[in-house]
Amino acid sequence: MSKPTGLNDPKTRDHPPAVGAVLARPELVARVQEHGHQTVVEAIRRAAAELGVRPELGRADAERWVADRAAALLTEEPRRLHRVINGTGIVIHTNLGRAPLGAEIAARAVQVAAGYSNLELDQPKGRRGDRQDLLSTLLSQLGGAEAAMVVNNGAAAVLLALAALCRGREVVVSRGELIEIGGGFRIPDILRLSGARLIEVGTTNRTRVQDYLAAAGPRTGAFLRVHQSNFAMSGFVARPSLTDLARAAREHGVLLLEDVGSGLVPPGPPAVAAEDRLAASIAAGVDLLVCSGDKLLGGSQAGIILGRTELMTRLRRHPLARALRPDKLQLAVLEETMLRYAIPGRLEEIPVWRMLHLTSDELRSRARSWVDALSGFGLPAHLVELEGAVGGGTTPSRSLPSFGILLEDNHPARLRRRLLEVEPPVLALERKDGVAVDARCVLPGEDEALLVAIRSAWGLRP
Ligand SMILES: *Cc1c(COP(=O)(O)O)cnc(C)c1O
Repeated sequence: MSKPTGLNDPKTRDHPPAVGAVLARPELVARVQEHGHQTVVEAIRRAAAELGVRPELGRADAERWVADRAAALLTEEPRRLHRVINGTGIVIHTNLGRAPLGAEIAARAVQVAAGYSNLELDQPKGRRGDRQDLLSTLLSQLGGAEAAMVVNNGAAAVLLALAALCRGREVVVSRGELIEIGGGFRIPDILRLSGARLIEVGTTNRTRVQDYLAAAGPRTGAFLRVHQSNFAMSGFVARPSLTDLARAAREHGVLLLEDVGSGLVPPGPPAVAAEDRLAASIAAGVDLLVCSGDKLLGGSQAGIILGRTELMTRLRRHPLARALRPDKLQLAVLEETMLRYAIPGRLEEIPVWRMLHLTSDELRSRARSWVDALSGFGLPAHLVELEGAVGGGTTPSRSLPSFGILLEDNHPARLRRRLLEVEPPVLALERKDGVAVDARCVLPGEDEALLVAIRSAWGLRP
């Protein structure tokens, strides 16, 4: 034992081990490869701080202790971006990264992105190509359009379309569609940013074709139709059909543009309105439409643009197209996803699609298996009926009836928080009498991890 008085004396105090000495130890050398130099150094500093000054340990023992602890910290340390189990029953959950990618879809996309690829190679000619050529045929066929292109996300697609086609012109929009979709994306702001001038028509609840026609003049560039996304109107409401609007636009020589929001390719699941279908919009006479890649489509973050070839050429040549272009991972995921739509019988491999089609029998029996497992450990778990949602601004007024478990607890808010602190974190639903986990969006293969997480969170209750 050291004399207490010596601790504050720089000459006699035992210093914590030097970072360099610990870093050189064999058990940490491989970790530098794995985590990077800076992360390992930070783990060593944290471990050394935990050790503090322990003069009774010799230098070698102290170094070993710090190295072991640093290695443990590196193993424990989750990535800042990591997996979360979705217990909310909301399929397209923006807080949780929207559409999850199927394991095979993700693996194939990563395989392409892990190496060099033909992203911008015109392969037959062996010279520079255009990334927009890669998916244009596949996308335009699936959407029933002449041409297609991809940008970084849906918001970028709206901006590019308006900037390329309507800059300096008037764009007519119904007052019922001047929406904010969250994350600060407001249609009037995007219009202003694009250099177009907004002309509002109709009222919040009712807009007719005549309203568009009355507003159309020599400076009008387009009628813009916007999916109302995350809000729904009911009661005394009206808006023109796309077909009628398309006819009016043609008669006036202006474009009809549509922000579809959540793009749906084939006939949708029962919970989704058919108006979300891309091909239906094109067939109705829309000149150009945009949608998101990671909502109902179930692919990567992307903005998909479909429409007439001549308009697409203008978009592709616009300087913003370069600023908003997608990267190879986005394109690879999108191609893998769209191929599942093109091949019959493979839709099930798109997680969003599979989750939306789960039957109540499937959901109930999964939830019941969790109840059985947790009851076996003495936890107060019960089978419950729940109401999930499609999410992502799609058909907000319709719920997705589901099954799940309820963990009875007197402090539901605290238990819900605990569930986010354990490994793997679980986002659950707070109820009056406990915390619920909806079975729909817990991915196949996550059952065991979910049960472990619930037991850890339960064990952490005071
Ligand atoms: C989601 C959505 C967008 C934005 O798409 P992101 O891919 O999220 O950028 C734009 N318009 C509507 C109507 C939407 O629902």
